[in-house]
Amino acid sequence: MKIFIDGKFCDESEAKISVFDHGLLYGDGVFEGIRAYHGRVFKLKEHIDRLFYSAKAILLELPMSHAALMAATVETCRQSGITDGYIRLVVTRGVGTLGLNPNRCKNPSVIIIADKIQVYPKELYDRGMDIVTVPTVRNLHSAVNPAIKSLNYLNNILAKIEANNAGVEEAVMLNSEGYVAEGTADNIFIVRNGALCTPPLAAGALYGITRQTVIELAEAAGRKVTEPNLTRYDLFNADECFLTGTGAELIPVVKIDGRVIGTGQPGPITRQLVQNYHALTKTVGEPIYP
Ligand code: PMP
Repeated sequence: MKIFIDGKFCDESEAKISVFDHGLLYGDGVFEGIRAYHGRVFKLKEHIDRLFYSAKAILLELPMSHAALMAATVETCRQSGITDGYIRLVVTRGVGTLGLNPNRCKNPSVIIIADKIQVYPKELYDRGMDIVTVPTVRNLHSAVNPAIKSLNYLNNILAKIEANNAGVEEAVMLNSEGYVAEGTADNIFIVRNGALCTPPLAAGALYGITRQTVIELAEAAGRKVTEPNLTRYDLFNADECFLTGTGAELIPVVKIDGRVIGTGQPGPITRQLVQNYHALTKTVGEPIYP
């Protein structure tokens, strides 16, 4: 495996950054999680676009152009021999002094790792997942805006711990008004009477690239997709439910807070979308080995 750090490729054992990096000291930075399928980097442009939006929101000037970041991501996959895998692209505020002033950090660092990921156990993709809503609410827009994919994931990690404590793999986070926001690292969809609903991004969700892909796939298949505010009641009474994310892909949900969803099995529309999603990953993406 070769890791990209600030323009150079190095071995895993040499891939090190300073303890004075504000990404480590304060979670000051942004990142992307990207997938490669069948020798292509899936939705790479969309991920780099979002990285720029996140960086803009935290006043972090990326030290590389959009084109250079795309090329470096593909090259990292090539150097690591990846055809199917998961890419983590991190931009930290860089080395600074103790004290959180970002003006003391002169050079942001860019790190790209191309490896593997298995977010949830394989059998849950067939059987469906049991999830719970948790007490930790999603960050407010007026605090750390949930649309920013920042290195500050403690809000989500606290929710994940609460899910783990409840004996399940994933949490549904509500916002401060009690509306459904998203999972700890995935967006949520429900199916009702053949149509899909997913919370509006304003409810406190990341602008998920998988979410957008699924909306497009569902609409192409003639399904209606709406983005209403959803409550726990709406989740409990859905016919089907699933989560979406680059790492998680599409995973069916069959129980929420002890309520069985639909038949208790992954539903037909969810299964069809999973198939359509995997079919899409075979045909689109930046080629790694042209
Ligand atoms: N919400 C959060 C909080 C996330 O971290 C992620 C990414 N893992 C998602 C949703 C899903 O976004 P995407 O489909 O772009 O990976």
